[in-house]
Amino acid sequence: MISEIEKKAVDIQKKLLEKINENPKPARIMHICGTHERTIAKYGLRSLLPKSVEVLSGPGCPVCVTPDDDIDTAIILAKKGYTVITFGDMLRVPGTEESLFDARSSGADVRMVYSIDDAVKIAKGNPEKEFIFFAIGFETTIPMTAAAVKRGIPENMKILTSFKQTPPAMEFLIRDINVDAFIAPGHVAAITGTNNLKFFEEKGYPVVVAGFESYDVLYAILLLENQLKQNIAKVENAYPRVVKEEGNKIALKMIDDVFETSDSEWRGLGIIPKSSFIFRKEYENIDAGIQYKDYYTKELEELREKRKSKKKNCICALILTGKKTPENCPVFGKQCTPASPIGPCMVSDEGMCHNWYRYRKV
Ligand code: SF4
Repeated sequence: MISEIEKKAVDIQKKLLEKINENPKPARIMHICGTHERTIAKYGLRSLLPKSVEVLSGPGCPVCVTPDDDIDTAIILAKKGYTVITFGDMLRVPGTEESLFDARSSGADVRMVYSIDDAVKIAKGNPEKEFIFFAIGFETTIPMTAAAVKRGIPENMKILTSFKQTPPAMEFLIRDINVDAFIAPGHVAAITGTNNLKFFEEKGYPVVVAGFESYDVLYAILLLENQLKQNIAKVENAYPRVVKEEGNKIALKMIDDVFETSDSEWRGLGIIPKSSFIFRKEYENIDAGIQYKDYYTKELEELREKRKSKKKNCICALILTGKKTPENCPVFGKQCTPASPIGPCMVSDEGMCHNWYRYRKV
């Protein structure tokens, strides 16, 4: 039975769709968020929009954008005897030859946690072992790692980071693909605020920060359509119940105390300037990427060589840049399913292939 709140949500959704469908302006709108993709796929929003309003999925799934190099590094170190701890989805993402899950099946000690605090507890409880926490994610998860580092992690634990920040990727995309406007992720903006998106106004791209209900996404599309019709480009906050212009100052300070920005590789996009956070010099002693460099560099070089000659069936790289959709992949829903994923976009429930499979019409 449908609740009163759900009835209201349906009513709001209908009204928003009526507005969007009144004289729509053709547009290519990109979101940068796996949770937005889940909402769009779950409620079939694309099929309710005018045909001329296209919603593209960008590189908004942290598991999906983590490059092979970082996954291979974690696997090499796990196979050398370090206990690698990471988030569940990362276990199943294939590296060049295998996933962390495969490495675990062949004897490596790889464990799954929900937060860095769980990893700290495990390391404290096993002082005879050496642990590596493989930390991935966007601005939403980085403050938790920064906070744990500031509190102090045990001596038998290091951290391998593969953090990403979204605005540099959005800026990179406008040079690479034909896009008219962006829906920005509300949970990221809850940390960063909206000031770091203002440069899109000068570049002429409307941006709306949105929440994650179906009506949040539709409202963002309506606001972007209005801007495009008026030929203006503003950053609008359509999620004020959570997002403040200045962001979360405590979390931002925490990030800044521990990390500095650096260039980094994104799957599908290549190297993007200043798009990641790496440890500041004073924290290099806990950086697994630096401290264990001699233990993984040779094998990583060999895997890079193998990767060059490997035939790629997975088109995740094109999906993450909005150039293709999962239906363009010949193995989508056949050899590649959430139960046996071939690429990262099918692994995570923030991945486009995963959501298209889960909410597809059968
Ligand atoms: S369906 Fe699988 S193989 Fe195809 S692009 Fe998606 S994740 Fe990659």
